Parts: sequence; structure tokens; C-alpha cells
Amino acid sequence: MPSPLMRQNAALLPSVDALLRRPMLRDAVREHGRTAMVRALRQALVQLRHAEVPDRQTAAELAEQAALAELARQALPSLRPVFNLTGTVLHTNLGRAPLPPEAIAAIAAAADACNLEYDLDKGERGERDDHVAALLCRLTGAEAALVVNNNAAAVLLALNTLAEGREVIVSRGELIEIGGAFRIPDIISRAQCRLREVGTTNRTHAFDYDNAIGAQTGALLKVHKANYVIQGFTAEVTEGDLAAIAHGKDLPLVVDLGSGSLVDLASYGLPHEPTPMEAIAAGVDLVTFSGDKLLGGPQAGLIVGRAALVARLRRNPLKRALRVDKFTLAALEAVLRLYADPDRLARRLPTLRRLVRTAADIRTCAERLAQAICIPLKTVQVTVVAVSSQIGSGSRPIDLLPSHALSLRPRSEAALVRLVRAFRALPVPVIGRLHDGALLFDVRCLEDEAAFVAQLAQLEFAGSGG
Ligand SMILES: *Cc1c(COP(=O)(O)O)cnc(C)c1O
Repeated sequence: MPSPLMRQNAALLPSVDALLRRPMLRDAVREHGRTAMVRALRQALVQLRHAEVPDRQTAAELAEQAALAELARQALPSLRPVFNLTGTVLHTNLGRAPLPPEAIAAIAAAADACNLEYDLDKGERGERDDHVAALLCRLTGAEAALVVNNNAAAVLLALNTLAEGREVIVSRGELIEIGGAFRIPDIISRAQCRLREVGTTNRTHAFDYDNAIGAQTGALLKVHKANYVIQGFTAEVTEGDLAAIAHGKDLPLVVDLGSGSLVDLASYGLPHEPTPMEAIAAGVDLVTFSGDKLLGGPQAGLIVGRAALVARLRRNPLKRALRVDKFTLAALEAVLRLYADPDRLARRLPTLRRLVRTAADIRTCAERLAQAICIPLKTVQVTVVAVSSQIGSGSRPIDLLPSHALSLRPRSEAALVRLVRAFRALPVPVIGRLHDGALLFDVRCLEDEAAFVAQLAQLEFAGSGG
């Protein structure tokens, strides 16, 4: 039995056809299409059946507003740009490395037909990785290179190709987990290899590897301790020494570098990160690293090293399953080309540009913003505070970069929650971090200040109350 309220509302509710004749909704049909409009109106009318509606006019207005709001909500893409003001430059949840305009243009140019696997000189089938292989070899000093979907895939492909059904020897100090379920023991078993742990958590010696090598050994693996440090009474075997041990037994040495910077970050005043160039020079057979960490490019897993081994990886059917698309290759090629001109790299590559930004420059920016932001946030205490940024994405968390943040401190915990939500609800959501009752916006990664300030007028935040 319909309730009395429902019966009464049903009489007051307009028909979909009547609603479609309203001027605002006629405009919206032109924008969103009739099908979506009708669906949104039906949904609004169903909901109004359960609400208290005083009269026909109000019922029509409420249905119109609800339908327009629903269509506006649906029109927002799910994947959207945000302002990353978390202070973590390479933030995995926020898309890691920002691409330079050269890479964005290259992606757009590859959108239609392109010579992805077509050799324009010979007029015959080509190899997709060839668009970046020569650049990678020149930059790293390796003989050959190959590209897959991400670094996890690179490690999987390398181990499966070189050591399927056999043992992979790894130091107990390097059995790491990176966020997002990348764990070295799991990757080794999914590569159909057996993990052979050697040494201890804090100390692993050359003799540990020597003693473990036997008829079952397929490869030696060294993993860069990207996201943690072992301090104190420690020992590990260098890549050079490990390469000598491996080659003495005719075995390959694979190094998972993780971030793998293609420049020496120390020359920019940043903490040194191991480079693929150093690994190759030390005699490592295959080095794997990410495209979207310190390299500053698209998500990809790069493998560089000996030509004979890379050729074996390329023939593994897994390579087909793990290969990258033309957009990744387009962006990667464009980014690698920027490395050909090291003098301008820190200006042109957004990741490096943000990492080298000085604390003084960041502070000036934060002070400018503090002026702009005060106006819409009258009940919030706005100050500029010294903070530390992180490189992120598994780069050493102890290496912090001096930076400055806008600190927004509302009057209550509840107001803080609403403030965070209000910034997230902006057309370009602003993501900061919470610290000690304040919302911090580390402005190291804010490059488009004008866009940030322009949308502040749309901030919907009532400071007082609750
Ligand atoms: C980040 C990282 C990975 C995973 O790389 P993805 O490109 O995210 O798949 C693997 N190993 C190390 C040491 C890392 O730092």
C-alpha cells in the first residue's frame, strides 16, 4: 500500500515531458543528451515521491535541481588533475612523475596512426622498443635495452627468463616490500624461481653468495634498499664484487635499482641515488628501474644490460603480456631526449625542477599565497611554516628536502575535517597533508600559482560552528 504522503506527492509531481520543456533543462539536454537527462529526471522524481513537497511549482523546481546536480556529477571524469601539495614529489597515489610538455605533445601526436612497429627506412615491420632503446643505451652505457609496463614487470621478466625453475640468490637485507604489494619473495616465486636467501638482515658477505652458489643457481639478484635504511653494524657486497662472483660461476647478476636516476642527483645538491650507469660500469648484467620515479617519465619498467640477455628477455612470451603501449613509448622517448641536454634538464624536466627548487623560492611562493588565501578563510589561522618535502616513490625516506608550507589551522577538529573536504571538492582538488591540527600545503610542487589562487573563490567552507 502506498503511504498517504506518497499518494499526495504523486499528484504534485510533474511528468518527465513537462519537465523537459523547462528552459534550463532544454539547455542541459543540448549539453548532456536526452537519454542522460531523462534518466536523471526519472531518478529525481522517484526520490521526490518520498519527500515532503508543498506544491506543484516547488516539486518541478526540486526535480530540476536534482537532475541538474546529478548530471553535473556524472559529467566529471573519474581521473582528474589535482594539486599535489602533499610534499611528496613522486607520489604514487597522485600519479608519480609529472610529464613535461614535450612528452604530452608526443602522446597527442601518437594518438592516430604512427610507426609504432614499422621501420620507415626499410619499409618493413619494426620493433616497438627501438624508439627508445638507442637513447637508453647512450644514456646508460648499456649494450641493449627493453621496456615493459613497470619495474615490477621488469624484475618478473628478467628473473623468469634467466632463472625459471632454479634459484635466485638474494641477501636477507634486501628482501624488501614496496607499497602496493611488490615484495621480492613474491615476485621471485611468481617468476617461477626459488628464493635462496643469504647472509643476515644487517650483514651479508661475499662468502655468503659464494657458499650458496651451486648447480641449482639461476641468477644473483641485488635489490636497492629504496625505502628504508640499515644503519649501524652493517655490511653488503658491492655490485662490482658481486658481478665478479657471478661471472666466476658463469651466472648473470640482476640489479633492481627501483628509482634509478639517469643523472647524478648529487651534482644538483640532492642526495645521491644509485644510477644505472654506475651499475653497468660495475659489470652488472641487467639493471631494472622505473620510468615514472626519478627518471621523470611515464609509468614503465626499463631493463638495460647485455645484448645477449636482453635478446632472451625479448623472446620470452611474458614480454608480449608486459609490453607498453604507444603512448608510453612516445612520452618516454620525449623525456629521454631532454636528457641529451643536461644543462637545461633541471628547467625542462618537472620532476627534477621540483626537486631542486630552493627553500627560499618556495618560501616566497608560500608567502604570496598566504596573502591570497586569507580572504576566503576568515576563521582559519594562516601561516607559513618550514617543513620537509620527500622525494617519494621509494626514494630514501630519511633524505628530506627543506621546504615551506601554508599552514591552515581552523578553530576546531570538525572544522579541519570540513576544510580538507572543501579543498578536495574544488574543480582541481587540492591535496595536502594533516599535521598537528593543521592542514599543510607544501608548495614545492605548486607551479601554476595563478590557477591555484583563481579557484579559491569557489571554496565552500563555513569556518564557524561544529
Ligand atoms: C619502486 C620500486 C619497485 C617497483 O617499481 P614499479 O615501477 O612501481 O613497478 C621495485 N623495486 C624497487 C627497489 C623499487 O623502489
